[in-house]
Amino acid sequence: MAEEPDTDEGTELEARLAEGETYEPPASFVEQANVSDPEIYEEFEENWPACWERAADMLSWNQAYDTVLEDDDAPFYRWFTGGELNASYNCLDRHVEDGAKNRAAIKWEGELGETRTYTYSDLLYEVEAFAASLRELGVEEDDVVTLYLPMIPELPIAMLACARIGAPHSVVFAGFSADALATRMNAADSEYLVTCDGYYRRGDPLNHKEKADKGLRGVDHDVETVVVDRLGDELNHFLGASAHDYEELVSEHEGESVEPVSRDAEDMLFLMYTSGTTGQPKGVKHTTGGYLSYAAWTSHAVLDVKPEDTYWCAADIGWITGHSYIVYGPLALGTTTVMYEGTPDYPEKDRLWDLVEKNDVDIFYTAPTAIRAFMKWGKQYPDQHDLSSLRLLGTVGEPINPRAWQWYYDHIGDGECPIVDTWWQTETGGMMITTLPGVGEMKPGSAGPPLPGIDARIVDASGDQVEAGNAGYLTVNNPWPGMLRTLYRNDERFLSEYWQEYSDEEADEWVYFPEDGAKIDEDGYITILGRVDDVINVSGHRLGTMEIESAIVGVEGVAEAAVVGGDHEIKGEAVYAYVILEDDADATDSMRDRIIEGVEDAIGPIARPEEVIVTPELPKTRSGKIMRRLLEDIASGNELGNTSTLRNPEVVEDIAAQVGND
Ligand code: ATP
Ligand code: MG
Repeated sequence: MAEEPDTDEGTELEARLAEGETYEPPASFVEQANVSDPEIYEEFEENWPACWERAADMLSWNQAYDTVLEDDDAPFYRWFTGGELNASYNCLDRHVEDGAKNRAAIKWEGELGETRTYTYSDLLYEVEAFAASLRELGVEEDDVVTLYLPMIPELPIAMLACARIGAPHSVVFAGFSADALATRMNAADSEYLVTCDGYYRRGDPLNHKEKADKGLRGVDHDVETVVVDRLGDELNHFLGASAHDYEELVSEHEGESVEPVSRDAEDMLFLMYTSGTTGQPKGVKHTTGGYLSYAAWTSHAVLDVKPEDTYWCAADIGWITGHSYIVYGPLALGTTTVMYEGTPDYPEKDRLWDLVEKNDVDIFYTAPTAIRAFMKWGKQYPDQHDLSSLRLLGTVGEPINPRAWQWYYDHIGDGECPIVDTWWQTETGGMMITTLPGVGEMKPGSAGPPLPGIDARIVDASGDQVEAGNAGYLTVNNPWPGMLRTLYRNDERFLSEYWQEYSDEEADEWVYFPEDGAKIDEDGYITILGRVDDVINVSGHRLGTMEIESAIVGVEGVAEAAVVGGDHEIKGEAVYAYVILEDDADATDSMRDRIIEGVEDAIGPIARPEEVIVTPELPKTRSGKIMRRLLEDIASGNELGNTSTLRNPEVVEDIAAQVGND
């Protein structure tokens, strides 16, 4: 074996960072930041809820709203009532009218290297033509249109076309199965589907239409389908009787102007399902006024987006992050948003850095799981590129462990870009807890304080706030414009899922419960510890999975770890650690010993893993989150739960075989 890596270095760094090393945003960033006045927190607090006019003011309204917040039917809150607007007008027409018609709105990069750039006026033209096409098919205001499309420009075009005519969209991630498509179309009685023939993955054409057709066979009503021809001759583009060709439809309507429908602020803009990390996905309803103003406001304040920027969120639009921060937030602000079709390691592991360099990307937003993959591949890939155009970095989706944070800071940001670690959910519509990059200092591993106007707290089981330094449950004690309004057609589940735990119905006090555990420090910085159910009970001791994972990824040579509890005869539950190693590390016994030692040193012998299972991959959702519940099933030898929202279902069996429970 090659020379032993210096184990202490990794764990020591993790410990040092955990102890609260802080970073100030560089002065050069603060000087130009959209928000740099620390008073903003007090301003929002003192003027709540009127402070949210600031978010609404980022938009153009056809009809001014009368009331910022109506709470007489809490927790069914209503925002900006009386106001009317159109989301596609806000993302397109007004920029064209303001003289930005030749600015790039979307810069799209195909996996095989082809590119397409849409200026704001190009995009408006395409959106109007498709909006007219949808109308021709019979789509009316409030009809739900399902979009089952990969990362091609027709996806945001279709979203904005729906928004233009007041038809809520429901985007189903292209990687999802036929069943997932059918379930979602049935649940929403969606009679319209936009899909495509196929797309590329690692250079190979995938047949998407076949999957869509299979899904349609499970839909219990008639559906009008539109098919985008992505692959041309590569794949026989068979339409079938009830399907329409996108190009053909659009060519009949090119040049038509479609008046944006004036929507009530509280009218539904879209329906989006949660990731399904912890169970059945929930259908979240977002509205036109509150959601859009919140997406625009957070893009402005947290992502520091300016119209002249080139901004890149490397997520999939099939996830809420892509809705808020590839499409609606950036386009509402009139900036240039980059969209990449493919995988980050195709054709080489430097693909993303190549794109940053080529497009002079100013702001880059991704997920910790991606950062850990970059780290695993090594710094030689970003080192090949000039990344000096970058000004700000962001992460979302999972807690980021300090070592990955540091790697991102050093090797992507060159020590000069603030990092915003943004906590939020499908349900919250936009970011909730994060530092403001031009205001607060950064603490690696901690998301930061709640955003101005957001009353997030850490409470104990009875709802009392915990002392600084302690862990508890995260709650949000006041409403915000981007919040979900309900679970689609299921008010009851909306109430029981989010409002039952800590609200006092009699006193009409409503507390939103995101079901995450968290810790708070003396400065009010919040560290997310993971899902409330991600706690392992070993011989009566309650251990947070996230803490153990952080200790494991602090060991040199470890790229990623997932820790779960599995049934154990004596201890009740035991710790099972699934580990991905860095490319240059080997799965030796000494490696396993170092991992076990790392956990014992950081937390104590009680947390000692019963088994360390080295695996090349972990089961993940489309947004890159590890599905721990499946790993728990494996560890306990149970039947596997729902895998329909997994990105890589095949790895589950591989891992099960290794553990010997398959
Ligand atoms: P489901 O609700 O169906 O189980 P999900 O919660 O994974 O799926 P999302 O809405 O995509 O669906 O994810 C939100 C969750 O992601 C948060 O509740 C939190 O657990 C986690 N999360 C998001 N951002 C961060 C972050 N910056 N730090 C820590 N955790 C985060
Ligand atoms: Mg959730």
